[in-house]
Amino acid sequence: MTERTLDTAASSSCGCKVGRITDQYDLNGLDDELVSYWTDRTDERYSTRDLATHVNQRVLEAALDEVGLQYKDGEVENTYRLLTGDDVSSGTRVQTRKELERDSIPVEEVESDFVSHQTVYNHLTDCLETTLESPSDEERLERSRDKLGALRNRTAAVTEDTVAQLERSDVLDIGEFNVLVNVTVTCEDCKQQYTIRDLLDQGGCDCE
Ligand SMILES: [Zn+2]
Ligand SMILES: [Zn+2]
Repeated sequence: MTERTLDTAASSSCGCKVGRITDQYDLNGLDDELVSYWTDRTDERYSTRDLATHVNQRVLEAALDEVGLQYKDGEVENTYRLLTGDDVSSGTRVQTRKELERDSIPVEEVESDFVSHQTVYNHLTDCLETTLESPSDEERLERSRDKLGALRNRTAAVTEDTVAQLERSDVLDIGEFNVLVNVTVTCEDCKQQYTIRDLLDQGGCDCE
């Protein structure tokens, strides 16, 4: 689970299959989950295939809840795998479906409500108008500022240490001192100089 939630209504108003099963099975917060898992900027990011599995497991879970079936942690995931996995024998699959039917789960109906990764993708991009954006210009500038700021701090710290050491061993004479690291960038077109901070803030050289 990521912490990010978006402020969208729990009930979906779109007409696609994902919207329909969201309403039908009362899948609260599904859209928020889909968007946040998909746009997650870490390695934890879900592919549309992972998202389809997630949707389908929630459908299955809701179907089990509906008939008041008790299940242990991981059981929904496992049942889903037994129903859909490529590596599951047809015998096991038939057996799993039989057991569910015995528990009054409308297996065929539930299975026909499972969605494909393409359906999830369409729902995300068409209905929810979500896109996988690369970082915005502002975000990239911000990251660069942070990176260069850290580099400047490190340079200042090493310089301070070095001067202090030389002073302690009487190689260098200096009073109280301060280190200031200034990086300047010169535009070769107009020879204007900028501190890197100003250049990033300004977004480019005046001459451009
Ligand atoms: Zn939709
Ligand atoms: Zn210039």
